[in-house]
Amino acid sequence: MRDPILQPAARTVTGPVAVDQLGFTLVHEHFAFNYPGWYADATLYPYDRTKVREIGLRWLGDIRAVGVRTVVDQTPNDCVGRDPELFRELSEESGVNIICATGLYFEGGGAPQYWKSRQGGGCDIATEIAEMMIAELTSGIGRTGICAGVIKVGTSRGTITPYERQVLKAACLAQRETGAPIFTHTEGPTMGPEQATVFAEFGADPDRVAIGHMNNADRIDYFLAILEAAPGITISFDRTGVRSREYSAWTAQAIAQLIATPGKDYASRIVLSHDFVPHMPGRPSQHTQEPDRYPTFVATGFRELLLAAGVTEAQFRQMTVGNPARLYAGRR
Ligand SMILES: [Zn+2]
Repeated sequence: MRDPILQPAARTVTGPVAVDQLGFTLVHEHFAFNYPGWYADATLYPYDRTKVREIGLRWLGDIRAVGVRTVVDQTPNDCVGRDPELFRELSEESGVNIICATGLYFEGGGAPQYWKSRQGGGCDIATEIAEMMIAELTSGIGRTGICAGVIKVGTSRGTITPYERQVLKAACLAQRETGAPIFTHTEGPTMGPEQATVFAEFGADPDRVAIGHMNNADRIDYFLAILEAAPGITISFDRTGVRSREYSAWTAQAIAQLIATPGKDYASRIVLSHDFVPHMPGRPSQHTQEPDRYPTFVATGFRELLLAAGVTEAQFRQMTVGNPARLYAGRR
Protein backbone atom coordinates (compact mmCIF):
# COMPACT_ATOMS: atom_id res chain seq x y z
CA MET A 1 0.00 0.00 0.00
CA ARG A 2 1.18 3.48 -0.81
CA ASP A 3 1.70 6.04 1.92
CA PRO A 4 -1.70 7.80 2.21
CA ILE A 5 0.03 11.12 2.90
CA LEU A 6 1.88 11.01 -0.41
CA GLN A 7 -1.11 9.80 -2.39
CA PRO A 8 -2.90 12.53 -4.39
CA ALA A 9 -6.45 13.17 -3.19
CA ALA A 10 -9.48 15.02 -4.54
CA ARG A 11 -11.37 17.36 -2.22
CA THR A 12 -14.89 15.95 -1.95
CA VAL A 13 -17.70 17.38 0.20
CA THR A 14 -17.03 14.65 2.79
CA GLY A 15 -13.24 15.19 2.80
CA PRO A 16 -10.22 14.10 0.75
CA VAL A 17 -10.58 10.92 -1.34
CA ALA A 18 -7.52 9.31 -2.95
CA VAL A 19 -7.82 9.86 -6.70
CA ASP A 20 -7.46 6.14 -7.41
CA GLN A 21 -10.62 5.63 -5.31
CA LEU A 22 -12.79 8.06 -7.34
CA GLY A 23 -13.77 5.37 -9.84
CA PHE A 24 -16.24 6.12 -12.65
CA THR A 25 -16.65 9.92 -12.48
CA LEU A 26 -19.25 12.19 -14.09
CA VAL A 27 -17.23 15.41 -14.32
CA HIS A 28 -20.00 17.98 -14.94
CA GLU A 29 -23.53 17.72 -13.52
CA HIS A 30 -25.81 19.84 -11.29
CA PHE A 31 -28.17 19.07 -8.43
CA ALA A 32 -30.00 22.34 -9.10
CA PHE A 33 -29.19 25.35 -11.23
CA ASN A 34 -30.61 28.72 -12.15
CA TYR A 35 -29.29 32.12 -13.16
CA PRO A 36 -28.57 35.06 -10.84
CA GLY A 37 -31.73 37.08 -10.37
CA TRP A 38 -33.93 34.06 -9.61
CA TYR A 39 -34.02 35.38 -6.03
CA ALA A 40 -36.14 38.36 -7.17
CA ASP A 41 -38.92 35.76 -7.57
CA ALA A 42 -38.14 33.95 -4.30
CA THR A 43 -41.18 35.33 -2.43
CA LEU A 44 -43.45 33.22 -4.61
CA TYR A 45 -40.90 30.52 -5.49
CA PRO A 46 -38.33 30.04 -2.70
CA TYR A 47 -35.44 27.57 -2.96
CA ASP A 48 -36.89 24.17 -2.08
CA ARG A 49 -34.11 22.23 -0.35
CA THR A 50 -36.37 19.24 0.38
CA LYS A 51 -37.22 18.91 -3.30
CA VAL A 52 -33.58 19.15 -4.44
CA ARG A 53 -32.70 16.50 -1.86
CA GLU A 54 -35.46 14.12 -2.95
CA ILE A 55 -34.64 14.46 -6.66
CA GLY A 56 -30.90 14.20 -5.93
CA LEU A 57 -31.20 10.96 -3.98
CA ARG A 58 -33.23 9.43 -6.80
CA TRP A 59 -30.71 10.07 -9.57
CA LEU A 60 -27.71 9.34 -7.33
CA GLY A 61 -29.26 5.90 -6.72
CA ASP A 62 -29.73 5.44 -10.48
CA ILE A 63 -26.11 6.35 -11.36
CA ARG A 64 -24.71 4.21 -8.55
CA ALA A 65 -26.64 1.27 -9.97
CA VAL A 66 -24.80 1.64 -13.31
CA GLY A 67 -21.35 1.90 -11.71
CA VAL A 68 -20.78 5.64 -11.21
CA ARG A 69 -18.82 6.36 -8.00
CA THR A 70 -18.17 10.13 -8.15
CA VAL A 71 -20.13 13.11 -9.44
CA VAL A 72 -18.99 16.73 -9.77
CA ASP A 73 -21.48 19.59 -9.30
CA GLN A 74 -20.18 22.43 -11.49
CA THR A 75 -22.52 25.21 -10.27
CA PRO A 76 -20.48 28.42 -9.83
CA ASN A 77 -20.78 30.80 -6.85
CA ASP A 78 -22.84 33.45 -8.64
CA CYS A 79 -25.65 31.12 -9.77
CA VAL A 80 -28.14 29.28 -7.55
CA GLY A 81 -27.82 25.60 -6.68
CA ARG A 82 -24.47 25.34 -4.91
CA ASP A 83 -25.48 23.93 -1.51
CA PRO A 84 -22.42 22.23 0.07
CA GLU A 85 -24.18 21.03 3.24
CA LEU A 86 -26.95 19.40 1.18
CA PHE A 87 -24.29 17.83 -1.07
CA ARG A 88 -22.62 16.34 2.02
CA GLU A 89 -25.93 14.81 3.16
CA LEU A 90 -26.59 13.47 -0.35
CA SER A 91 -23.11 11.96 -0.54
CA GLU A 92 -23.39 10.30 2.88
CA GLU A 93 -26.83 8.87 2.14
CA SER A 94 -26.12 7.68 -1.41
CA GLY A 95 -22.54 6.48 -1.03
CA VAL A 96 -21.56 8.48 -4.16
CA ASN A 97 -18.60 10.89 -3.81
CA ILE A 98 -19.58 14.48 -4.59
CA ILE A 99 -17.16 17.28 -5.53
CA CYS A 100 -18.38 20.87 -5.73
CA ALA A 101 -17.00 23.96 -7.44
CA THR A 102 -15.69 27.41 -6.67
CA GLY A 103 -15.79 29.98 -9.44
CA LEU A 104 -17.76 32.41 -11.54
CA TYR A 105 -19.98 31.96 -14.59
CA PHE A 106 -19.47 33.69 -17.96
CA GLU A 107 -20.30 37.41 -17.99
CA GLY A 108 -23.75 37.27 -19.62
CA GLY A 109 -24.97 34.33 -17.50
CA GLY A 110 -23.36 35.24 -14.18
CA ALA A 111 -23.36 38.20 -11.80
CA PRO A 112 -20.23 40.19 -12.69
CA GLN A 113 -21.32 43.61 -11.44
CA TYR A 114 -19.83 43.31 -7.93
CA TRP A 115 -16.38 42.51 -9.32
CA LYS A 116 -16.64 45.00 -12.19
CA SER A 117 -17.45 47.83 -9.80
CA ARG A 118 -14.44 46.89 -7.67
CA GLN A 119 -12.30 46.88 -10.79
CA GLY A 120 -13.70 50.30 -11.68
CA GLY A 121 -12.48 51.45 -8.26
CA GLY A 122 -8.95 50.33 -9.11
CA CYS A 123 -8.88 46.88 -7.44
CA ASP A 124 -6.92 43.95 -8.90
CA ILE A 125 -9.89 41.60 -9.23
CA ALA A 126 -7.86 38.66 -10.58
CA THR A 127 -5.99 38.58 -7.26
CA GLU A 128 -9.18 39.08 -5.24
CA ILE A 129 -11.11 36.34 -7.06
CA ALA A 130 -8.11 34.00 -6.68
CA GLU A 131 -8.12 34.69 -2.91
CA MET A 132 -11.81 33.72 -2.79
CA MET A 133 -11.19 30.52 -4.77
CA ILE A 134 -8.14 29.52 -2.68
CA ALA A 135 -10.08 30.06 0.58
CA GLU A 136 -12.96 27.87 -0.67
CA LEU A 137 -10.58 25.16 -1.91
CA THR A 138 -8.47 25.03 1.25
CA SER A 139 -10.57 26.27 4.25
CA GLY A 140 -14.12 25.74 3.05
CA ILE A 141 -17.19 27.46 1.60
CA GLY A 142 -18.72 30.04 3.95
CA ARG A 143 -18.74 28.63 7.49
CA THR A 144 -19.45 25.05 6.40
CA GLY A 145 -15.86 23.78 6.54
CA ILE A 146 -16.71 21.95 3.27
CA CYS A 147 -14.06 22.55 0.62
CA ALA A 148 -14.64 23.04 -3.08
CA GLY A 149 -12.63 20.63 -5.22
CA VAL A 150 -12.69 22.20 -8.69
CA ILE A 151 -12.44 25.68 -10.22
CA LYS A 152 -15.24 26.67 -12.64
CA VAL A 153 -14.97 29.54 -15.14
CA GLY A 154 -16.52 30.45 -18.50
CA THR A 155 -16.52 32.69 -21.54
CA SER A 156 -19.08 34.34 -23.84
CA ARG A 157 -20.17 33.43 -27.36
CA GLY A 158 -17.46 34.49 -29.80
CA THR A 159 -15.45 36.52 -27.28
CA ILE A 160 -13.56 36.44 -24.00
CA THR A 161 -14.62 39.69 -22.31
CA PRO A 162 -12.09 41.70 -20.24
CA TYR A 163 -13.96 40.59 -17.06
CA GLU A 164 -13.83 36.91 -18.11
CA ARG A 165 -10.10 37.24 -18.82
CA GLN A 166 -9.59 38.39 -15.20
CA VAL A 167 -11.63 35.41 -13.94
CA LEU A 168 -9.57 32.99 -16.10
CA LYS A 169 -6.39 34.56 -14.74
CA ALA A 170 -7.73 34.13 -11.17
CA ALA A 171 -8.40 30.43 -11.89
CA CYS A 172 -4.78 29.98 -12.98
CA LEU A 173 -3.47 31.75 -9.85
CA ALA A 174 -5.70 29.55 -7.66
CA GLN A 175 -4.59 26.40 -9.46
CA ARG A 176 -0.92 27.27 -9.00
CA GLU A 177 -1.58 27.65 -5.26
CA THR A 178 -3.84 24.62 -4.70
CA GLY A 179 -3.34 22.16 -7.58
CA ALA A 180 -7.11 22.07 -8.19
CA PRO A 181 -8.38 21.30 -11.70
CA ILE A 182 -10.07 23.95 -13.87
CA PHE A 183 -13.28 23.14 -15.81
CA THR A 184 -14.85 25.61 -18.20
CA HIS A 185 -18.15 26.69 -19.68
CA THR A 186 -18.19 27.71 -23.34
CA GLU A 187 -21.05 29.27 -25.30
CA GLY A 188 -21.93 27.47 -28.52
CA PRO A 189 -18.91 25.84 -30.07
CA THR A 190 -16.80 28.99 -29.57
CA MET A 191 -13.67 30.13 -27.72
CA GLY A 192 -12.39 26.67 -26.74
CA PRO A 193 -9.01 27.18 -28.46
CA GLU A 194 -8.82 30.76 -27.15
CA GLN A 195 -9.47 29.56 -23.57
CA ALA A 196 -6.67 27.00 -23.96
CA THR A 197 -4.33 29.78 -25.11
CA VAL A 198 -5.23 32.04 -22.15
CA PHE A 199 -4.66 29.20 -19.67
CA ALA A 200 -1.22 28.55 -21.22
CA GLU A 201 -0.44 32.28 -21.05
CA PHE A 202 -1.25 32.46 -17.31
CA GLY A 203 0.69 29.30 -16.47
CA ALA A 204 -2.06 26.73 -15.81
CA ASP A 205 -1.01 23.06 -16.00
CA PRO A 206 -2.76 21.72 -19.16
CA ASP A 207 -2.86 18.26 -17.52
CA ARG A 208 -5.42 19.70 -15.08
CA VAL A 209 -7.58 21.85 -17.39
CA ALA A 210 -10.74 20.62 -19.14
CA ILE A 211 -12.47 22.79 -21.75
CA GLY A 212 -16.22 22.24 -21.51
CA HIS A 213 -19.32 21.72 -23.63
CA MET A 214 -17.85 19.95 -26.67
CA ASN A 215 -21.37 18.68 -27.38
CA ASN A 216 -22.27 22.09 -28.78
CA ALA A 217 -20.05 21.42 -31.80
CA ASP A 218 -20.60 19.61 -35.11
CA ARG A 219 -17.03 19.66 -36.40
CA ILE A 220 -14.01 17.54 -35.48
CA ASP A 221 -11.62 20.39 -36.36
CA TYR A 222 -13.02 22.40 -33.40
CA PHE A 223 -11.93 19.62 -31.02
CA LEU A 224 -8.52 19.31 -32.71
CA ALA A 225 -7.98 23.09 -32.55
CA ILE A 226 -8.35 22.97 -28.75
CA LEU A 227 -6.16 19.86 -28.33
CA GLU A 228 -3.46 21.51 -30.45
CA ALA A 229 -3.71 24.99 -28.84
CA ALA A 230 -2.37 23.67 -25.51
CA PRO A 231 -0.93 20.14 -25.77
CA GLY A 232 -1.97 18.09 -22.75
CA ILE A 233 -5.31 19.85 -22.28
CA THR A 234 -8.53 17.84 -21.91
CA ILE A 235 -11.78 18.32 -23.85
CA SER A 236 -15.02 17.61 -22.02
CA PHE A 237 -18.00 16.07 -23.79
CA ASP A 238 -20.16 17.03 -20.84
CA ARG A 239 -23.52 17.50 -22.52
CA THR A 240 -23.79 13.92 -23.69
CA GLY A 241 -27.39 13.08 -24.56
CA VAL A 242 -28.31 16.51 -25.97
CA ARG A 243 -30.32 16.95 -29.17
CA SER A 244 -31.00 13.46 -30.56
CA ARG A 245 -29.78 9.87 -30.57
CA GLU A 246 -28.41 10.59 -34.09
CA TYR A 247 -26.29 13.43 -32.71
CA SER A 248 -25.04 11.16 -29.89
CA ALA A 249 -24.06 8.58 -32.51
CA TRP A 250 -22.18 11.28 -34.45
CA THR A 251 -20.42 12.35 -31.23
CA ALA A 252 -19.38 8.75 -30.50
CA GLN A 253 -17.95 8.45 -34.02
CA ALA A 254 -16.15 11.80 -33.66
CA ILE A 255 -14.58 10.60 -30.38
CA ALA A 256 -13.53 7.32 -32.04
CA GLN A 257 -11.95 9.30 -34.87
CA LEU A 258 -10.08 11.59 -32.45
CA ILE A 259 -8.76 8.58 -30.56
CA ALA A 260 -7.52 7.07 -33.84
CA THR A 261 -5.43 10.17 -34.68
CA PRO A 262 -1.98 8.79 -35.56
CA GLY A 263 0.82 9.68 -33.15
CA LYS A 264 -1.53 11.12 -30.49
CA ASP A 265 -3.01 9.69 -27.31
CA TYR A 266 -6.31 11.57 -27.32
CA ALA A 267 -8.06 8.78 -25.37
CA SER A 268 -6.24 10.26 -22.39
CA ARG A 269 -7.56 13.79 -23.18
CA ILE A 270 -11.34 13.22 -23.23
CA VAL A 271 -13.88 13.18 -20.38
CA LEU A 272 -17.65 12.54 -20.48
CA SER A 273 -20.69 13.82 -18.59
CA HIS A 274 -24.26 15.18 -19.12
CA ASP A 275 -24.55 18.69 -17.57
CA PHE A 276 -27.77 17.34 -16.08
CA VAL A 277 -30.03 19.93 -14.40
CA PRO A 278 -32.82 18.04 -12.61
CA HIS A 279 -34.27 21.10 -10.89
CA MET A 280 -34.33 24.85 -11.57
CA PRO A 281 -35.13 26.95 -8.48
CA GLY A 282 -37.76 29.59 -9.29
CA ARG A 283 -40.89 29.23 -11.39
CA PRO A 284 -41.48 25.90 -13.16
CA SER A 285 -39.43 25.94 -16.36
CA GLN A 286 -40.78 25.64 -19.91
CA HIS A 287 -37.54 23.90 -20.82
CA THR A 288 -37.94 20.21 -21.62
CA GLN A 289 -35.09 17.81 -20.99
CA GLU A 290 -33.94 15.65 -23.90
CA PRO A 291 -34.76 11.96 -23.15
CA ASP A 292 -31.14 10.76 -23.34
CA ARG A 293 -29.84 13.54 -21.13
CA TYR A 294 -30.14 11.56 -17.92
CA PRO A 295 -26.94 10.85 -15.95
CA THR A 296 -27.03 7.08 -16.55
CA PHE A 297 -26.64 7.61 -20.34
CA VAL A 298 -22.82 7.81 -20.51
CA ALA A 299 -22.53 4.50 -18.62
CA THR A 300 -25.21 2.77 -20.72
CA GLY A 301 -26.49 3.93 -24.13
CA PHE A 302 -23.56 6.21 -24.95
CA ARG A 303 -21.04 3.56 -23.93
CA GLU A 304 -22.69 1.22 -26.45
CA LEU A 305 -22.50 3.89 -29.17
CA LEU A 306 -18.78 4.38 -28.41
CA LEU A 307 -18.06 0.63 -28.54
CA ALA A 308 -20.02 0.36 -31.83
CA ALA A 309 -17.87 3.21 -33.21
CA GLY A 310 -14.70 1.25 -32.41
CA VAL A 311 -13.70 2.64 -28.98
CA THR A 312 -12.32 -0.14 -26.75
CA GLU A 313 -13.43 -0.97 -23.19
CA ALA A 314 -10.00 0.15 -21.98
CA GLN A 315 -10.37 3.51 -23.75
CA PHE A 316 -13.86 3.99 -22.28
CA ARG A 317 -12.43 3.30 -18.82
CA GLN A 318 -9.63 5.76 -19.49
CA MET A 319 -12.17 8.51 -20.31
CA THR A 320 -14.47 7.83 -17.34
CA VAL A 321 -12.00 6.70 -14.62
CA GLY A 322 -8.37 7.41 -15.52
CA ASN A 323 -8.70 10.92 -16.95
CA PRO A 324 -10.85 12.34 -14.09
CA ALA A 325 -8.29 10.87 -11.64
CA ARG A 326 -5.46 12.63 -13.49
CA LEU A 327 -7.34 15.96 -13.54
CA TYR A 328 -7.88 15.74 -9.75
CA ALA A 329 -4.39 14.43 -8.91
CA GLY A 330 -3.23 17.90 -7.91
CA ARG A 331 0.28 19.18 -7.61
CA ARG A 332 2.91 16.61 -8.55
ZN1 LIG B 1 -23.22 23.02 -16.23
